[in-house]
Amino acid sequence: MSANVIDGKAIAKEVRAELKVRAEILEKNGLKPGLAVIIVGDDPAAKIYVRNKVKACSEVGIHSEVHNFPEDTLQDDVQCCIQELNENPFIHGILVQLPLPQHFDANRIMTSIAVEKDVDGFHLYNVGALVTGNTVFSPCTPHGIMIMLNKKHIPIEGQHAVMVGRSNIVGKPMALMLLEKGATVTICTSKTRDLAMYTKNADILVVATGRPRMISKEMVKSGATVIDVGINRLPDGKLVGDVDFASVKEKAGFITPVPGGVGPMTITMLLCNTIEAAERVYGVI
Ligand code: NDP
Repeated sequence: MSANVIDGKAIAKEVRAELKVRAEILEKNGLKPGLAVIIVGDDPAAKIYVRNKVKACSEVGIHSEVHNFPEDTLQDDVQCCIQELNENPFIHGILVQLPLPQHFDANRIMTSIAVEKDVDGFHLYNVGALVTGNTVFSPCTPHGIMIMLNKKHIPIEGQHAVMVGRSNIVGKPMALMLLEKGATVTICTSKTRDLAMYTKNADILVVATGRPRMISKEMVKSGATVIDVGINRLPDGKLVGDVDFASVKEKAGFITPVPGGVGPMTITMLLCNTIEAAERVYGVI
């Protein structure tokens, strides 16, 4: 059996076309959605992510602006900038690109963003809202995965979902969203003994570890849905996920590739959250 490969690029394209229409409606009513991105330091990967976000914004009709700070900036200076953006009526979403320099307190930075502009969903209020099932903004990567599952009509309720990884940006919110939709959820970490015992029992397996190709065919149940969040650059320059795609594809029911799976959906959900923030201001939702 060969799995149905979930084409994240195609789904992202479809969703972005819908978002473009929503942005046009807002603009016709005098409200252009706006996103501000703050980046501190010179991390090359972070700079590429920011560039991609700016490009995606312009494609769907969102105004975007980037606030660049040098690595040795004081945290207070960044917080002042956030304060100004909180009060700026042309900005509906604010995101701080991670990672932040060592001398920053990331939680303090995130909680200085106005809750209604926290389009990454990392503010402690928004984390609490997600935990209690009152989501304001869903974190982008898990949100994108939920949309992919939905578009492919993959059932969640009553299914056993196994999340490998417990980061604040992927693992934990993903587990909560699956739980909210009625899945029985198991969360595995680097401390889990006999990981395969859990993964082999997953109807839906989501992997976000940053360990290249760590999930092999033997670790997957036949017919399972396998979602690969990992992005790993091998020494030869090749980009691979946390799942051994070539072998697991022969056993899974559905599988996401890397690249072209979860990645394109993450930025799309940032656009979605920004438009949603603007729609709330206008009273559309
Ligand atoms: P983190 O490093 O923050 O978390 C990794 C998690 O994986 C940890 O909880 C860790 O466990 C767990 N882990 C590590 N090794 C193992 C193992 N051998 N067995 C079981 N669990 C393990 O990473 P992120 O969640 O931020 O990112 C994960 C991957 O996803 C990365 O490759 C990243 O680049 C990618 N990513 C992709 C995105 C996309 O849009 N496609 C978006 C965000 C991330 P413990 O807590 O015990 O240390």
